[in-house]
Amino acid sequence: MKIDLHIHSRLSDGEDSVSELVAKIKSSGLDGFALTDHDRTDGWAEAAELAVTNGLTFIPGVEITTEGRTLGENGVMHSFGVHLLAYLPDPDNAELKELLYINRNSRIIRTKKFVEKLATDYPELTFELVDSIAESGSTLGRPDIARALIELGIVKSVDEAFKGKPGELGILSKRNTKYYVPNSAPSVLEVIALVRRAGGVPVIAHPLARTSSEDSQPEFFPRENFIAMAEAGLLGLETSHFEVSPENKIILDDFAKEFDLITTGSSDYHGLNTKKHNPLGLHTTELEMLKRIIAAGTGIAPTLSRQF
Ligand code: AMP
Ligand code: FE
Ligand code: FE
Ligand code: ZN
Repeated sequence: MKIDLHIHSRLSDGEDSVSELVAKIKSSGLDGFALTDHDRTDGWAEAAELAVTNGLTFIPGVEITTEGRTLGENGVMHSFGVHLLAYLPDPDNAELKELLYINRNSRIIRTKKFVEKLATDYPELTFELVDSIAESGSTLGRPDIARALIELGIVKSVDEAFKGKPGELGILSKRNTKYYVPNSAPSVLEVIALVRRAGGVPVIAHPLARTSSEDSQPEFFPRENFIAMAEAGLLGLETSHFEVSPENKIILDDFAKEFDLITTGSSDYHGLNTKKHNPLGLHTTELEMLKRIIAAGTGIAPTLSRQF
């Protein structure tokens, strides 16, 4: 069974509608998938329905924007973005609904600030343009700003917006302090506990990825951070992901064994025009691990195909 547990639709920063996505999932030969849009759960109902008609297994998921904090070597507190996948939480849980609502609003405010800074050099860029390209109501992220920059002819691709031309800093890069505005988000430890209260299975997305180049996240393995997350109720690590380096994968898989955590694999598909290196099914999750997720997740029922 081939199962891809991290996929984005147009409801957040992906390119495809849910129905386009399920058609592509089916034709890619996958047997099961999770829809994990950023900070929202409203694609689940359609995905579940289409999973039934296509004979696919569907796991409701959401990628929650959170913040991790670690003490740097110089004693300075360093905060960095952590994406927390939550599988099978109750979408009607009041705490979870409020958290996702606040996160989506924070992303709107952040995008407005980002656009304001960019507009000093690119006055043709407006929030309204970003919002209309993203389709009003979708969870906003940097890929949406990138699409507006393409529309205006400022960059040629999403990749160029993030990474820049050779030798240049990308316009939207985290290291481009002239423009960059971070997401503001709640502590990952608090969100892990909240997801558990909502019956969900918290799994760190692309752990230790986006180090120095993107997140300026510490390159060393902050073991105490992972221990704190395990103690807070973390259940898994997404160790098979194209942004997790082979060296870090070994460390993380060992850590998962030591703390009896689930390990998952995915594509983190956003559409090939957005992120061209991660087609559907690039990495997949072992059946045994999926079974552990289903056993631990009590917030909503998965859609299981007959062959499951
Ligand atoms: P944000 O959460 O708004 O800061 O934006 C991060 C999002 O941009 C993540 O969901 C990534 O999937 C996406 N992303 C990160 N790096 C790239 C890249 N080089 N090209 C395209 N998308 C990227
Ligand atoms: Fe994304
Ligand atoms: Fe992510
Ligand atoms: Zn993602």
